[in-house]
Amino acid sequence: MMDPPPPDAVLAACRALQFRDHLGIHIKLQGVPFPDNWIYIHSKEVKMARLSNYRNFSPVMAGSVAEISPVTAEYFATRGDSVWSSTDEALIALALQEMKQMKLIRSDKQALAGFVVRSAKAYPVMEIGYEKHIGLVKSWLKDFENLLPIGRSGMFKYNNQDHAIATGLLAARSALGLGKFDPWLVNIDAEYLEEVNGR
Ligand SMILES: Cc1cc2nc3c(=O)[nH]c(=O)nc-3n(C[C@H](O)[C@H](O)[C@H](O)COP(=O)(O)OP(=O)(O)OC[C@H]3O[C@@H](n4cnc5c(N)ncnc54)[C@H](O)[C@@H]3O)c2cc1C
Repeated sequence: MMDPPPPDAVLAACRALQFRDHLGIHIKLQGVPFPDNWIYIHSKEVKMARLSNYRNFSPVMAGSVAEISPVTAEYFATRGDSVWSSTDEALIALALQEMKQMKLIRSDKQALAGFVVRSAKAYPVMEIGYEKHIGLVKSWLKDFENLLPIGRSGMFKYNNQDHAIATGLLAARSALGLGKFDPWLVNIDAEYLEEVNGR
C-alpha cells in the first residue's frame, strides 16, 4: 500500500510471508460433550484442530440454561481450499460428524443451531527462513519516523492479545514523545521490558 512502493526486494520479502486462514464453527449443542474448556486435537483422522465448550468457562456463557453447550470447532485452512470453500451447512455437518467420530456426541440431532465465521490471515506461518524476510521488511521500515508497526499481522509475530496490546501502548508512548520505545522487543518478557524503561 506504500506510495512510492518499497524496493523490489522488500516487496518480495513481504510476499514470502504467508498466513493461515481460520474457520470457527459455532454450534449450540444439547448436552455437555466434555468437561474441559477446550481440547487440542492432533489426530490425523479428523480435520478439526481445537474444540471449545464455553459452558465450561462459565455456565453464564450458556445463558445459564442446563444441558446446553455453546461449542466452537476450529479448522485451519488456506483460502480457496476445500475446507474454506465448503458451505456453512457442510462445515457444520463436518464438525458434527467429527465430534461423533471422536465419540463426543451421539447424534447430530444434538445440534440446535450453528453458524460459521471465516477469518482470513489469522495465523502468521513461521516457516524456516521467515526471519530473513521479516528482517528485511523491518530494516526498511526503521527509516520511517512516522510509521510504527504494531500488532500480530502488523509485525508478523505469533503474538497473543496482551503482546499485541503492549506493542500498541509502546508505539503510542513513542508517538506522544514520551521516549523511544521499541515494539519489536515485546515478547513473553514484556514486564521486564517495562521495568527497564522505568514506566
Ligand atoms: C483462533 C484464534 C484464537 C486466539 N486465541 C487467543 C487467546 O486465547 N488468547 C490471546 O491472548 N490471543 C489469542 N489469539 C491471538 C489474538 O487474537 C491476537 O494476538 C490479537 O487479536 C492481535 O491483535 P491485533 O490488534 O494485532 O490484530 P487484530 O485483532 O487482527 O486486528 C487487526 C484489525 O485490522 C483490521 N485491518 C486489516 N487490514 C486492514 C486495512 N487494510 N484497513 C483497515 N483495517 C484493516 C482487521 O480487520 C482487524 O480488525 C487468537 C487468535 C486466533 C486467530
